Amino acid sequence: MRISIIGGGPSGSSAAHDLARKGHEVHLFEENSEIGIPCHCTGIVTKVLWEHIPKKKELILNELKSVRIHGPSTFTDVPLSEFVLDRAGLDKYLAQRASDAGVSIHYNQRFTGVQNRQLMFSSSDTQSPKQADVLIGADGPRSAVAKATNIFGERRFYLGVQATASGNFVPDRFEVWFGTVCPGFFAWLVPESESVARIGIAALESPQKYFQPFIKKHAKKIISYQGGPIPWFNKSSKQFTMHNGLPTYLVGDAGGLVKATTGGGIITGIMSGQLCAQAIEQQTSYEKLLAPLKRELWLHDFMRSMLNKFSDADYDHLIELMSTPKVKNILFNHPREFPSRFLCKLLLAQPRFMKFLPKTIM
Ligand SMILES: Cc1cc2nc3c(=O)[nH]c(=O)nc-3n(C[C@H](O)[C@H](O)[C@H](O)COP(=O)(O)OP(=O)(O)OC[C@H]3O[C@@H](n4cnc5c(N)ncnc54)[C@H](O)[C@@H]3O)c2cc1C
Repeated sequence: MRISIIGGGPSGSSAAHDLARKGHEVHLFEENSEIGIPCHCTGIVTKVLWEHIPKKKELILNELKSVRIHGPSTFTDVPLSEFVLDRAGLDKYLAQRASDAGVSIHYNQRFTGVQNRQLMFSSSDTQSPKQADVLIGADGPRSAVAKATNIFGERRFYLGVQATASGNFVPDRFEVWFGTVCPGFFAWLVPESESVARIGIAALESPQKYFQPFIKKHAKKIISYQGGPIPWFNKSSKQFTMHNGLPTYLVGDAGGLVKATTGGGIITGIMSGQLCAQAIEQQTSYEKLLAPLKRELWLHDFMRSMLNKFSDADYDHLIELMSTPKVKNILFNHPREFPSRFLCKLLLAQPRFMKFLPKTIM
């Protein structure tokens, strides 16, 4: 059975690695000439990542011990343990691991469509095999695979804009700002070190309007710019279809599998790649295996919908309620990937959070 994977990001390489290790013939097609470049990410992850891939010291640029959460007129510091990754390095490591497991990687191959199991690419390369028995779309938020197989559906995107910049930063603390500084999402400053940070915002529209004043305020000198669309998880989106007899799976951003609260998709992408490989190997339903992860993403969406109705006063009140040791302790002990494991505990520790629930139905 020949499995063709489109896209050499973390989701595609994870699926490729697991399938090749089980002895499948796996081809991974990447549109760029180099994996991980260009980079479009802040690269912040929780320790849950190391439950899914080996912890490699060389991929960790910085370790974070707390987050400062700013409201319009107040802030609180919450302890945590998170990592700033060399994002291009992560992608390269995962692709190399897949290649070592036997995956054939084909560069400069931009997928454009599929007809009768025959894959089409924009390059004229005749060497790589184009016939597929199984197709996996791991080609990011604007997935050409999802479009070609008619499961792109209704999607909304946040537009993320970020600069890597020099300045003076507290190296083990990242910061986020909520409220009018970046309505509908948040702004962030994530230090790589005490002199370099990744500073950005995301918005549903006009991101530059919020990014320009924010970057001017926090950066001394711009080193480089990054950015791109961040899919907003849609609970009715499909991640599997039988397209003219070709089983087609979507993983990671291609399937919209991103946390709507933070825009984080590295870990959920890797998890979905691994679940997709498991579904193919065990000839079982991918949708069934994905269901627990999609439930967590639905909770993120639920929280995002609530936050999007917050006034500045609501944000300040939320931050005040988060400032108790009990709440901070729960947040420290529960990585944000799995809100089902801590939302009830938060409500018990701070019943006044209930005040915000009507926002979810208004
Ligand atoms: C500004 C910004 C900051 C972010 N910060 C974080 C963060 O701090 N933490 C976090 O967890 N997530 C973050 N994310 C989200 C994260 O980057 C994505 O969720 C993650 O990259 C998803 O991985 P993926 O493998 O699914 O897709 P991608 O990483 O997008 O990989 C897709 C791959 O497919 C290739 N490709 C695309 N189209 C084609 C085609 N037609 N043919 C062949 N190849 C193709 C691309 O070149 C790419 O290599 C951020 C996103 C943005 C925009």
